[in-house]
Parts: sequence; structure tokens; C-alpha cells
Amino acid sequence: MSDAQKNIIVLGCSGSIGTQTLDVVRQHSDKLKIVGLVAHSSKDKLEAAAQEFGVQNKILLAEENSEAEATAKIANMICDDDVDIVVNAISGAAGLNASYTTLKNNKRLALANKESLVVGGDLLIPMAKNNLLPIDSEHGAIYQCLIGEEKSTVSKIHLTASGGPFYGKKRADLENVTAADALKHPTWNMGPKITIDSATLMNKGLEVIEAHHLFAVDYSQINVVVQRQSAIHSMVEYIDGSVKAHLGTTDMRIPIQYALSYPERWETPVERMDFQNLDSLDFGKPDCETFKCLHLAFEAGKAGGTMPCVMNAANEVAVAKFLNDEIKFLQIPEIVERTMNKFNPDKVESLEQLSENDTQSRKIAKTCISHQT
Ligand code: MG
Repeated sequence: MSDAQKNIIVLGCSGSIGTQTLDVVRQHSDKLKIVGLVAHSSKDKLEAAAQEFGVQNKILLAEENSEAEATAKIANMICDDDVDIVVNAISGAAGLNASYTTLKNNKRLALANKESLVVGGDLLIPMAKNNLLPIDSEHGAIYQCLIGEEKSTVSKIHLTASGGPFYGKKRADLENVTAADALKHPTWNMGPKITIDSATLMNKGLEVIEAHHLFAVDYSQINVVVQRQSAIHSMVEYIDGSVKAHLGTTDMRIPIQYALSYPERWETPVERMDFQNLDSLDFGKPDCETFKCLHLAFEAGKAGGTMPCVMNAANEVAVAKFLNDEIKFLQIPEIVERTMNKFNPDKVESLEQLSENDTQSRKIAKTCISHQT
């Protein structure tokens, strides 16, 4: 993959990351060519993208008969000799199979589906070599801060968090917030699942586990810091006390493009940061009492094995119910915690085991829903 045009496929092409990926391709059509598209259920967007980019190979998941069939079709698309890069922007644990197939076949995985690493990091990382590039603003930032450095000199990773739409609120303030309130996210424009995860701070929790796997750091070395402006995308602190930070415009097209261009840098797809008009940079501590999901994710990560899979499955169940107005906001961490309490972690051994564990956890999570908080 040097000078030649790179062939990419986009899984989840109609979502937030997917459409921004298409935009990056539009601006660098001399360097990138789309050869496959997968969408969950947005038929119109899939057809429009296929037509614009001249793509024959396309899959609409909602039309597939079974999950197994969909998985096989996607695997087939990934394995095509033509494909250089797979952008995995599928939402939730459903993205794990595609990540596995991509790395197994030695192709670059530009990974926006953080649940792949949360659930299956123990399987994916040994296959990753240099093929795994994160599409997550924080992890893309850390990746760049680590370039040229000795791994053994890293003392801490400071993972920045915007704080979400409910920053500063206490439990009593959050009793009756609705999905619509949570969807008013201040900084990043994202899909509904990740937006709710940002409001509960579970997104940051998933990112802690993602960072643990991607950068081989212990949980004690990961420090979550609130950076309200989202101008600093994360920082790495070294043993000599030096801290490297990555800054830039808050636009996902920058980390998306880097995951595609690496090790090269290409012209920016967005407006540059205007430092003279950036009046302040604020830092703070996350409130893990109010936003218990962050604490639970640290606990799941430290327990290791299949526990992050359990936690993630319970969270997916709870978020879907919250989006559907079936449960209250504060019940999300409650369901996650109760589900986690019903499992002991096993060593991660296979995709089949994780899939079975995910199914069991979802079943249990549904029984953990109380009628009051
Ligand atoms: Mg992020």
C-alpha cells in the first residue's frame, strides 16, 4: 500500500462515521477508492453512495435472512483480494466478526467499532500487528503521541472526555431525563447509541478498555480527564514528566483520514483550529458517583476475560430500552451492574464463546430491569 490508490470498504456506510468516511474519500479520490459498502437498514443512503462512488458490491443487512448469512456475506467482501482497508463503523458487539475477519486476513482495520476491542480485544490484539488503526478521536490522538517513543517510557495515558450533555448534574437532576435530552450532545455529532453512551459516560468506559488493549497499558495507567472544549483529544505522559497532547478541530474526519492515510499525512478535510480565538482550555475530574457506568467499565476491564463482554451486552440492552423510553436514565448503570454481578469472567478463547456469552448476558440483562430506580 504505497503510492497506489487504496481500495476500501465501508461497513456501516450510512451512519455518522460512514458518511464522514465517504466525505474523506470524496476529497481524496486520487488516493482512495471504495470497492464495497454495507449498511444496516438505510437502503436509500446505501443506493445513493453506491451510485456516486460506482460501487457494485453492496449489502443491506436488514434484508439478509439471518445473522449468520449477513456475517458470511461481509466476510466474503472483506476477503476479496482487491480490498486493502476495512472501515468498520458497525454499531455494537455485532461488529466483532468483521474486525476478526479483517485482521485474520492481514488487511488494515480502520476501527470505529470500539465494542470489537471491548468484547474481543484478547482475540484481536495478537493478530493486529501494524494493521489496526483506531477511528476514535482519543485513540487516534494517543496513537500519534506514541509515535517514535519507547513503550517502556510511557507512564500514563490521559484519556480526555467532553463530560457529555449532563456534565455537572447530580443523580437527583437525572431522575427524569429523556432520550431526547441525552441526544442533545454538545460537541460531537454521532449516532444514537454512542450519544447515549456519552451521556452515561459508558462511552468513556468503553474507551478505557479500548485503550488498555490498543496500547497495552494497565488500567492503573489510564486517567480519564474532563476537557470540556474537546480541543485536546488525549495526552500521553512519559516517565520524565513530559506530556504530549494531540489537538485539532473537533471533527471526526481528521481521525478517519489518518486511519486511512497512515503513515502518510494528507491535506486536512476540515477547517483548521483557530488558536487565537480559542479562549480557554478547562480540565476536570469525571464524576463516577453520578455517572456510574465509567466506574463499572473500569471494574469490568480489571476483572478481564469475558466480563467486558457481559458489561457491553448489558449496556446495549439497557441503551436500546432507554432509547425506546422503556426505562429511566439511571436504570442503565443499574442493569449493567446487576448483570455483571451474575457472571464470573472466563478466559476469552473464541468468537463462538463470546457470542454465546453475549447472548446469555442479554437474556440476564432483560431480567435485571426493575420497575423503579
Ligand atoms: Mg471517542
